[in-house]
Amino acid sequence: MGVQWVLVCHGVATLVVVISFLCGHWPIFNGTPIQRIHHFLTFGAYDYFLRFVGFVFGTKGTNAILSVENFCCDRPNPILQVIYLAILGGTFYFTAKSSFSYIPGYYLSEVHRYTSVLVVAVGVLLFLLTSFSDPGIIKAENVSQYLSAYPYDNILYSQKECSTCKIPKPARSKHCSICDRCVARFDHHCGWMNNCIGERNTRYFMAFLLWHFLICLYGAVALGFVLVGRAKELKVVYILTVYYGVENSFRGLAPHVVQWLLDAYNTQILLMVFLAIVSLLLAGFFVYHAQLCLTNTTTNETFKWQDYISLKKKINEAKASAAALKASISEMNSERKPSESKWRSFFRRSPLEDAEVVVKNNVYDRGFLRNLCEIIFPFSSRSSFSRTKLKHG
Ligand SMILES: [Zn+2]
Ligand SMILES: [Zn+2]
Repeated sequence: MGVQWVLVCHGVATLVVVISFLCGHWPIFNGTPIQRIHHFLTFGAYDYFLRFVGFVFGTKGTNAILSVENFCCDRPNPILQVIYLAILGGTFYFTAKSSFSYIPGYYLSEVHRYTSVLVVAVGVLLFLLTSFSDPGIIKAENVSQYLSAYPYDNILYSQKECSTCKIPKPARSKHCSICDRCVARFDHHCGWMNNCIGERNTRYFMAFLLWHFLICLYGAVALGFVLVGRAKELKVVYILTVYYGVENSFRGLAPHVVQWLLDAYNTQILLMVFLAIVSLLLAGFFVYHAQLCLTNTTTNETFKWQDYISLKKKINEAKASAAALKASISEMNSERKPSESKWRSFFRRSPLEDAEVVVKNNVYDRGFLRNLCEIIFPFSSRSSFSRTKLKHG
């Protein structure tokens, strides 16, 4: 029983760390422990490490670490691309090595040997397409095309020039500091792809996420069928009940079958759990981005909306405190109200209110079908934008 609890705790801890590391910066985790763990993993731990290096090796050591950091995080580099290929290749290699000998099996036909190679090849193809396609780089020659693509909403975007590229900045574009170029309908810079995700390659990026979720799910389910098939072929239930006298019920058999699988097929179980966790993460990532696509918002814009909303709140708070100051001056002798506790203000914060502000002001949202068309066929339906009556501005 003790070992099982250690396994459960280990699984939960791994899941929390992986989710915090990959998704802790998402707006939905704002103010939660997940965000704090993300901050520690991505910034806090590194900061302590840097201080430790500085303490032991002095300024020279710190400078060496900083120049490595500059190469890895602030300049385009293929490190994460290589890591992606190593993870994909390694997982496929170990899966094939440990499980292909059981295919065809009780539940899986021989065709899965070939379909698995095919789905991984398509995954690599989508990765290459997203990594090396034009995300919508804005240059002096094509800037007019991008300028007419979206109107300025005068909330998040107003007419101005990129201070680095010295060309007009189209609405929804951003200068990527890593790639040092302006990108149309900028979503984010993806380290895994070593490329920006923007106007022209969001469709490939979405296809990549969906396809990799399906690959992981397929792998986890297929490995599950391999294991159940082996138990069936080796008549494990029959042996346990007839020869070992184990009670023929789920409660009676499950611990023995699990124990047998952990002893005989631990590689397959490790791979299955890994694929299941990664498929869950990819599903979450895909749903988050699909939601953005269907409401015609970008990751970059969600941060801009957050800034806009917090600025508005600050202005309102400043107005309210000015009014309160006025009132308190006139009622100098009245009793002081107790200040609101942190907990109450936490629960008072309504994410729904914030979402409403975005829905009301997002002029680029033209209904989910048109939004989807814009992602799949960039520029195709955009000529009608100027004719569309804007909701705002
Ligand atoms: Zn620029
Ligand atoms: Zn970039």
